[in-house]
Amino acid sequence: MTLRLHNTLTGTKEVFAPIEAGHVGIYTCGPTVWNFAHIGNLRAFMFYDLLRRQLQASGYRVTHVMNLTDIDDRILDQAMHAGTTITEYVKPFVAAFFEDMAAMRAQPAEQYPRPTEHIPEMVAMITTLLEKGFAYVADGDVYFRIESFPRYGALSHLDRSGLRPGARVATDRYDKESASDFALWKKAQPGDDTLGAAWDAPFGPGRPGWHIECSAMSKRYLGDTFDIHCGGVDLLFPHHENEIAQSEAANGKPFARVWLHSEFLSDASGEKMSKSAGGFTILRDLVAAGHDPLAVRFFLIANAHYRQRVRLTTDALHASAEQVRRLRDFAERVRRTDPAPAADEDLIARIAEVRAAYRGALDDDLNLPQGIGVVFELVREANAALDEKKVGAGARGALLGLLEEVDGHLDVMGGEEPGLADEVERLIAEREAARAAKDFARADRIREELRERGIALEDSRDGVRWRRVTPA
Ligand code: AMP
Ligand code: ZN
Repeated sequence: MTLRLHNTLTGTKEVFAPIEAGHVGIYTCGPTVWNFAHIGNLRAFMFYDLLRRQLQASGYRVTHVMNLTDIDDRILDQAMHAGTTITEYVKPFVAAFFEDMAAMRAQPAEQYPRPTEHIPEMVAMITTLLEKGFAYVADGDVYFRIESFPRYGALSHLDRSGLRPGARVATDRYDKESASDFALWKKAQPGDDTLGAAWDAPFGPGRPGWHIECSAMSKRYLGDTFDIHCGGVDLLFPHHENEIAQSEAANGKPFARVWLHSEFLSDASGEKMSKSAGGFTILRDLVAAGHDPLAVRFFLIANAHYRQRVRLTTDALHASAEQVRRLRDFAERVRRTDPAPAADEDLIARIAEVRAAYRGALDDDLNLPQGIGVVFELVREANAALDEKKVGAGARGALLGLLEEVDGHLDVMGGEEPGLADEVERLIAEREAARAAKDFARADRIREELRERGIALEDSRDGVRWRRVTPA
């Protein structure tokens, strides 16, 4: 088995081989914590999670670094309006980010560095760039001179004739069409100090630009050259191009060897989801509307390949929830089944074939949707075999093994989301109490409320049981 990944640098799928045998270093551009992460952001983060799980399944130890951008123009703006420091302002959004990641069962990264805690590393790199002549000071700001770096544009296959030597850009988010000298360091403005957003440096007091953080923090935790760098396609230019220029110019060594870019998520109307555009959806909204965060997880990683655009619609989320339910039910059924005294060699061979096809799909640039398609074919066949009592100990064991491997990527089969079970049990107890008190209106109301959140109650002889259904 060989893992192949689509490298944006070369535009081809390449056999993956890390620098150090058995170990992979990954840097992934994380959230800017000026607000809640929207589902488009979460798509990128769940893609990072899928990558790390597949690397682990391939036998590698992973060192995953994800930055939390805690300083940029928007954060300064918001902190100023809120009359607080940037550190205080971002706190609830950092907490919300970790809650969302936990609700979606993203494996934690090994490091979550923040630029405000790595100012010396950034100052050191900017100093080197100045010394080597790749950067210059203008009006107290420091800029990277893109003309001085001949490989500028190699990642995004930029037409260098479009370069505008000397044109400068200091804002964090800017014109994606033209390449310009970009800010490494921005001179302190009146009030930055009160916001906790100004630091001393040999080239004058100020704060770092957006791009330098990823160059300085990846160097600190992964070294000058590392294996894989990921981000959404919108970061390809100029952010990733600028990271390469800064790092390779300062270190004199190649930067990331493989670049992976995940596609956009758009809203139901087909517009790219973005916080600045206004109409964005966050995980909390979906959960409040009754969606299981793990169905959202499934939708984001298993519904479409990471290099395909996806559209977030309620129907698509319900379809994902249904698939998750079918997998859970199937896993439960296989676990509960007593092996039949059956000759099941054919089924065992078929399961082995599906397992190989599943692995082949994941090895082919993380094609989880294709792998899941093959698994669902088997679920149908195996359900039929279970109906006919044709599943012996061998096939049962092989099915459980396959499901465990699949859930190594999906992570949706093992139980409900944390906290939900307790809350549902509490409401069930309340409903029982209402029924005992003959307050049937209240009991019905509780049942209806749960139904709207996608939880159906079933009265059985052993008491009340509940399960997830498509929200009413
Ligand atoms: P930000 O918080 O804006 O710095 O973005 C964090 C991550 O989300 C980056 O990797 C972006 O490329 C990614 N991202 C932003 N918007 C979308 C979107 N609509 N669809 C997919 N990924 C996105
Ligand atoms: Zn970055």
